[in-house]
Amino acid sequence: MSDQHSHQSFETRAIHAGNTADPLTGAVVPPIYQVSTYKQDGVGGLRGGYEYSRSANPTRTALEENLAALEGGRRGLAFASGLAAEDCLLRTLLAPGDHVVIPNDAYGGTFRLFAKVVERWGVDFSVANTSDIASVREAVNDRTKLIWVETPSNPLLGITDIEAVAGVARQAGVKLVVDNTFASPYLQQPLALGADVVVHSLTKYMGGHSDVVGGALVTADAALGEELAYHQNAMGAVAGPFDSWIVLRGIKTLAVRMDRHSENATKIVEMLTQHPKVTQVLYPGLPEHPGHEIAAKQMRSFGGMISFRVQGGEEAAVEVCNRAQLFTLGESLGGVESLIEHPGRMTHASVAGSALEVPADLVRVSVGIENVEDLLADLRQALG
Ligand SMILES: *Cc1c(COP(=O)(O)O)cnc(C)c1O
Repeated sequence: MSDQHSHQSFETRAIHAGNTADPLTGAVVPPIYQVSTYKQDGVGGLRGGYEYSRSANPTRTALEENLAALEGGRRGLAFASGLAAEDCLLRTLLAPGDHVVIPNDAYGGTFRLFAKVVERWGVDFSVANTSDIASVREAVNDRTKLIWVETPSNPLLGITDIEAVAGVARQAGVKLVVDNTFASPYLQQPLALGADVVVHSLTKYMGGHSDVVGGALVTADAALGEELAYHQNAMGAVAGPFDSWIVLRGIKTLAVRMDRHSENATKIVEMLTQHPKVTQVLYPGLPEHPGHEIAAKQMRSFGGMISFRVQGGEEAAVEVCNRAQLFTLGESLGGVESLIEHPGRMTHASVAGSALEVPADLVRVSVGIENVEDLLADLRQALG
């Protein structure tokens, strides 16, 4: 992160990092530089270092500087989607013959990228329960190049001890990648705990309003950041100027949104744990959650994602999703509006039949920042 912001608190960095007033007009918010190319003052005479917008664009630069500052990293890079960011990372770090360790409850799209795309290029993977450090250590072999961790995980809300896995990675001489999408940098700072790279789907809490698809990588190391930036340009799946601008706008309220997401989720968990139709609630804020202590240690609060299992199996779970009204039935998460979904048939349909298959009676909610009494009333009626 630049020295200019390193002393500032998170909320201040969220609003100011990368957001310098436009030098030409004084505009307080970085303009949307909707442009592909830049006039040169004589051959090679670049005015602001900008040449062509795949390589760099000022609005994207503003977002990338902001992302680096928020994660406490040296370099931030913004992509067209979370999966585009992951693809760039994997094809920069891996070569045929390499091996990676992935979690047994990774985001379905991440698993599909490994299983259907990257594996065909000669990279194989082992699935580990990353909540169990021994299981991670066992999965590492002499061809392993990276360990992938998602915490809290999707959709089972499993917790991985980032610091402990960083120790395993360091010892094995491999890189640790943490998908920080569920927590956001406000709740959790993986680079400070020893991760090498943080991955984000900016589509979720960072954008925060269900109106943009984007992704990001943030590195602790400047040289790795440079290597990834080279591949970002070489592969080309960059975030466009408008998408960069709207994510930058969303991030300004990240801290207040996350506080409310966590607050609302806590009250909804309280209701669900007492509801007769709910057989299990998965939320790291619950003292009985196996990862509770680690979550309390590495997260500021427990976030807005809750999964729960309902009596009556798959049909009952689907019925709850169908009956919800204020909770919109839909995929994705992290927006101001509450969402509900059935992972088995929706977001995680692509892992059916694999080691990552999720329980059929599982319902996942992304708790928004609406009035919590309204949210509670809707869930109660949906549960019937
Ligand atoms: C959504 C998501 C992704 C993928 O991001 P896209 O922006 O949809 O490409 C990766 N990881 C997690 C945890 C996600 O929720």
